Amino acid sequence: MEKVIIIGSGCAGLTAALYTARADLSPLVLTGIMPGGLLTTTSTVENFPGFPEGVDGYELMSRLQKQAERFGARVQFGTVDSVDLSRAPFRLVVDGEGVETQSLVIASGARHRHLGLASEQALEKKGVTYCATCDGALPVFRNQPLVVVGGGDSACEEAQYLTRFGSVVYLVHRRDQLRASKIMAERVLANPKVRPVWDSVVTEILDVKQDKVTGVRVKNVKTGEETALACAGVFIAIGHVPNTHLFRGVLDMDDQGYLVPQRGAAMRIPGVFAAGDCVDRVYRQAITAAGMGCAAAIEAERYLAGLKQ
Ligand code: NAP
Repeated sequence: MEKVIIIGSGCAGLTAALYTARADLSPLVLTGIMPGGLLTTTSTVENFPGFPEGVDGYELMSRLQKQAERFGARVQFGTVDSVDLSRAPFRLVVDGEGVETQSLVIASGARHRHLGLASEQALEKKGVTYCATCDGALPVFRNQPLVVVGGGDSACEEAQYLTRFGSVVYLVHRRDQLRASKIMAERVLANPKVRPVWDSVVTEILDVKQDKVTGVRVKNVKTGEETALACAGVFIAIGHVPNTHLFRGVLDMDDQGYLVPQRGAAMRIPGVFAAGDCVDRVYRQAITAAGMGCAAAIEAERYLAGLKQ
């Protein structure tokens, strides 16, 4: 019987592990398929407090794991197949093996939303990417036309960032108005290197036969007209999808699948806590995820102390 199981090993999960380990709860961390979470795909993290020179995303997560392990956290590579939260102790099936726990911290994160095109999947990492800060500086994108898909703050941020590298950045958005905050929208549209392509969706990424990105086919949703845009890279920034499918119908979540705690990090079911990108649809920063992981751990500790009394 575990005292605390933490699902997820990103900033939220490993911070929860650090705190529960220091509370002598010997937490079991289940990494999921991406140990260290999305941050491990980032090159330099420049906005995590305490690192004036920046820190490599992978290194930051490795150090955080070591820090949690130093106090007794056990990090296990594994994916949760199912959870039974109908009564305590909770029962999880992890890679086919059953395990029971008195409390659960869900820090399962979020993944990038995909367009859902076959050509997108075929050319991922061959010019199709979901993170400008991770990949924008690659030589293959330098002084080349680039495409950003999306109309939110992420897309604007990515487009703005990519103007440092690309010769021109096409911002392909399915409507004629950006969803992004006013300041971001104004900034990006004022940038002479950014060319908005309104009312348009990407229908195909070219060229699968050449095994690299050479352009995109875009369709104007109002006129139905299809055109091709030459580019060396496609940066898809159409939001995130929280990794919460295991809890559908069991835990409170909003219309997009983000978990909705009842109070602080506590879900409606006593003993279940949630933190990080599976909860947060607004900030989605490493430091906010870490803060939420800390809060979830403190609440789990208090919950377990209450059980003892
Ligand atoms: P978002 O606000 O949900 O925007 C997603 C964008 O992608 C929307 O413009 C949406 O179009 C478009 N989209 C969604 N599905 C699509 C599809 N299948 N095909 C084509 N386009 C699609 O997501 P986000 O930009 O990642 O931002 C998420 C949250 O983080 C927001 O609250 C945002 O303010 C915040 N954020 C803030 C900052 C910042 O302040 N620096 C930076 C990044 C993110 P529609 O507009 O038509 O729905």
